[in-house]
Amino acid sequence: MCRATPPPNCRYDLKAGNAILAEAKHLPLYEELVAKHKVDYIAGGATQNSIRVAQWIHGGKGFAAYIGAVGKDAYGADLKAAASADGVTTYYDEHADFPTGTCAVLIHDRERSLVANLAAAEHYSKSHFESDATQGVVKGAKVIYSAGFFLTHSHEVMVACGKKAAADNTIYAMNLSAPFLCQFFKTQMHAVLPFADFVFGNETEAAAFAENNGIASTDVEEIAKAIAALPKENTARPRHVVITQGAKATVCASSDGTVTVVATPAIPKESIVDTNGAGDSFVGGFLAMISKGADLKAAIDAGHFAAGHVIQRDGCTFDSSVKYVPAGAPAGGAAATA
Ligand code: ADP
Ligand code: MG
Repeated sequence: MCRATPPPNCRYDLKAGNAILAEAKHLPLYEELVAKHKVDYIAGGATQNSIRVAQWIHGGKGFAAYIGAVGKDAYGADLKAAASADGVTTYYDEHADFPTGTCAVLIHDRERSLVANLAAAEHYSKSHFESDATQGVVKGAKVIYSAGFFLTHSHEVMVACGKKAAADNTIYAMNLSAPFLCQFFKTQMHAVLPFADFVFGNETEAAAFAENNGIASTDVEEIAKAIAALPKENTARPRHVVITQGAKATVCASSDGTVTVVATPAIPKESIVDTNGAGDSFVGGFLAMISKGADLKAAIDAGHFAAGHVIQRDGCTFDSSVKYVPAGAPAGGAAATA
């Protein structure tokens, strides 16, 4: 992921808060960023961000593993190094023919606009998924999570993971991830949704989902309830739809009809460095606690903690010396501070 500030103007037709896939007209943007701006290179990928944060918040050695595709190049090596440094085991499908995916992150007034050039990331191979090593990780996982970006190229892999989770009554979680996925990848999204025990998204994605799925309401709680009520494969678990709204309260609607609303802790505007990776970090903190058997409120608290910490830093990074101590738990060691 490369990040530059300030951004070029809107010659590239970009919107604040949005995330899109690069089209031919966007390709010169990458060269322009490097040529005209001071660019920071930060390990990213929405799912890998969440997994790194989950490992940090969980704290247990070897808790989290990540599966995905990279190129056999320096950026691929950087991604692996970033994951290993945070204690995440990687199972990369390494391609000689495609470079590692990159994402231009343009930040303006603390809002981000993402332009992803998926490259190797959209060539995750069936043979890698079916390999013994990958299947071993999938089989052993208590929680499997994928951001929605995987829908653009490998939704069959998401369905296979969802089926495994349903058969074993383990947890499958996914993310709406971007408005364009709700609009242009509806078929793939609806193939995966029946397996989702947790669906994450932000308010913009919830609105896009509603608009493209005949949900008349514009109210986040009503939209979350409608997604929670969609058909579900594993009826032994309810579905929880968790919608974050930046500084506003997080709403979780569950298929049993309950709604949990948790206020987001305020962070002074001047302390926010950039909100890129906020949603990814929320998911990491949330799922780390779910994997420990925590309830929804405790999981949302951990999500808020992780996201609140990350947005006060550059990119999706965190101070790994900070240990998360859930409210009410004995603080045996370092205290949790955002
Ligand atoms: P996304 O990155 O998907 O747009 P959100 O903007 O909804 O996700 O943010 C996810 C989480 O990050 C929020 O639930 C909150 O914990 C934290 N967060 C984001 N923006 C702010 C903010 N301005 N003030 C406080 N917390 C924030
Ligand atoms: Mg946001």
